[in-house]
Amino acid sequence: VPAIETWALTKEYSNGRGCRDVSITVGKGEAFGFLGPNGAGKSTLVKMLVGMITPSSGRAALLGYKIGSLAAKSQIGYLPELYRYQEWMTGEEVVELHARLCRVERSVTAKRVPALLEEVGLGQRGRDRVKHYSKGMQQRLGLACALVNDPEIIFLDEPSSALDPIGRREVRNILEKLKERGKTIFLNSHLLEEVELLCDRMALLNNGVILRHGSVSEVLRKQ
Ligand code: ADP
Ligand code: ADP
Repeated sequence: VPAIETWALTKEYSNGRGCRDVSITVGKGEAFGFLGPNGAGKSTLVKMLVGMITPSSGRAALLGYKIGSLAAKSQIGYLPELYRYQEWMTGEEVVELHARLCRVERSVTAKRVPALLEEVGLGQRGRDRVKHYSKGMQQRLGLACALVNDPEIIFLDEPSSALDPIGRREVRNILEKLKERGKTIFLNSHLLEEVELLCDRMALLNNGVILRHGSVSEVLRKQ
């Protein structure tokens, strides 16, 4: 089964905005870019896929499980666009808290938290409070949190929009490593370059509808 499959997935807010008739397939281990300007409907789609909002119509499955089901939710990690951290906590504590919220076993958590902090380049800073972290460090901490249940699919909503070029590169390096390890990546972005550098396949979204969908080279050649 594909990692992600949607059939005419639609969300219409009461003001008429949202996204409509989104039909896409993302294979296991693929990095998929969902490219579009602000307000195109990218967050809306991801929120439906992770089970945060209910579609108005259409269907979708993650690894064959209906979206919104516990089985689907347990396979995914999600880095929301504007994640607020408990600033008074240390990075280590934040990841531990996430592990507890995801019901990761204590014995697993003890090993996984330092490994994750290392993986996102915060190995030396895990005992510092989040209020002393830069934006890039906070975003990498968010990635560690999104990975805490060892998910098959990782959803990232504009992970680099608040970062400088160095921060962007750091995030991209981590995503590249995850891809090498066979994780499926779904990346929302308004930055063409970010999609081009990381993704195999993509969809171009505008005003809530998909304009093109295919391999990155196909979609961009036709533009
Ligand atoms: P639904 O149709 O899913 O019930 P609503 O239109 O009632 O959604 O809005 C849900 C929430 O999102 C409300 O709290 C609303 O204030 C907020 N909201 C409304 N418009 C926007 C917008 N353009 N962008 C983000 N949030 C919005
Ligand atoms: P993107 O992630 O591509 O920036 P969004 O999915 O956040 O786009 O928003 C798509 C459209 O839906 C925008 O016009 C936005 O203002 C509107 N919107 C988002 N959330 C809500 C909401 N809760 N209620 C009403 N409108 C919303």
